Amino acid sequence: MSTSSLPTRRHTIIKNTTALTMDSALGEIVGADIEILDGEIVGIGPGLEASGAAVIDGTNTITLPGFVDSHWHVWGTLLRGVVGDGPEHGWFATKGRLGGHFTSEDFATGVRLGMAEGISAGITTVHDWSHNIMCYEDAEANLAVHRELGTRVHFSYSAPSAHPSMPMEKMREILAKGGLLPDAVMDFDNPRRIAEDWVPSSESLLTVGVAVRGPARSTPEVYREEWRLAREQGLSISMHCAGTEAEVERIHQIEVLEADGLLGDDMLLAHCLYISSTEREYLADFGIPVSMSPLSELRLGMGSPPINEHVAAGVQVSLSLDTTAISATADVFQAMRVAVGLQSISAKDATALTPRRVLEMTTIDGARALGLEEVIGSLTIGKRADLIMVRTDELNMAPVWDPVVAIVHSAQPSNVDTVMLDGRILKWKGELTTVNTPKVIAEAEDSLKQLCERAGFKPR
Ligand SMILES: [Zn+2]
Repeated sequence: MSTSSLPTRRHTIIKNTTALTMDSALGEIVGADIEILDGEIVGIGPGLEASGAAVIDGTNTITLPGFVDSHWHVWGTLLRGVVGDGPEHGWFATKGRLGGHFTSEDFATGVRLGMAEGISAGITTVHDWSHNIMCYEDAEANLAVHRELGTRVHFSYSAPSAHPSMPMEKMREILAKGGLLPDAVMDFDNPRRIAEDWVPSSESLLTVGVAVRGPARSTPEVYREEWRLAREQGLSISMHCAGTEAEVERIHQIEVLEADGLLGDDMLLAHCLYISSTEREYLADFGIPVSMSPLSELRLGMGSPPINEHVAAGVQVSLSLDTTAISATADVFQAMRVAVGLQSISAKDATALTPRRVLEMTTIDGARALGLEEVIGSLTIGKRADLIMVRTDELNMAPVWDPVVAIVHSAQPSNVDTVMLDGRILKWKGELTTVNTPKVIAEAEDSLKQLCERAGFKPR
């Protein structure tokens, strides 16, 4: 599938914006011009000349790197609205009831809805943790939508897991559709095929890894073999870890992996809410990043993300949505505010996590978590042009004094005026350029309706 339907990369100059470069050498530049050529940032600073370039007026805007989401099960977007309150209608129950009925078409409509919202809200890179893949066609449907939309994506291949505690009928259903029991090694042929079939033609917008269940949800023989296979194939390894107290009462996954000699900087862990101080030291020593999802951790009652504890120990932290079926919106601004607020409460100190620090977590540190810090994450000459322009002349923004405070504490997705991804303009003057929004919404609604019918599920 080609990318020919995407907007062309034009020689462009943004004039007179306030640039939050997130590059420590450049800092913040008021009255900045940014020149983009062939999808690359080639100039940044005041008073640039770029003859022949298309001019974007940056007056009354703040320009910053596009957000990087380091842990998002994008397919789950289709279940937004079905996930309600109480154990019977919670995320895990809903996923268990409906996840096994997803078709490749449902993957496509769900990911299209999720990423269209994500791009509109300023997310330009996503770690798409696709943990419901039942056949290669599901993965292809998922990847095809990213290609269609022009997303920069780290794709973690993963199958749904069946667990002996599930009702037998449910377990059989999941197993019949490619799900895994704890003593079964996940499929590594499909991620290898993705790396071979999709990465070379991705214009460097796609990297591939696997998401594994780890010591808490698979047997020692299985997780050791999965680590071996991932490393043999050069696939990065992602894993949920210590998201509940019940898990750490049973097992400390990081300690187990350390004892097995398996920790490495090709790993990424999500949550890590209840890890021990020893485990925290391991993460810092091995350079293993942690993705924290304050909106889902809050809504599911998992716990308050110990961001400052991780940072103080030298652990690299980035932020994520987890799934918009739980976070409810792809609103990174809200995630930053909640992250800041929770650190303020736990430290009884309103400055415990500063706006500048949290903005690093959604930009440059997100890029680091995905091994993309040389490519994106800051407005730096030589990096790819993934950037967003946020309007300041709006009721919820003005008057802007400190642009970082405005972005973290006032901005919302509707203030994102322009999104440029790899030099392509995907949102312009508040409208997505390549997405037929009413059609995307209607198709997602239809998909969910049919999915519920197939599953015999009647939403309240
Ligand atoms: Zn997750």
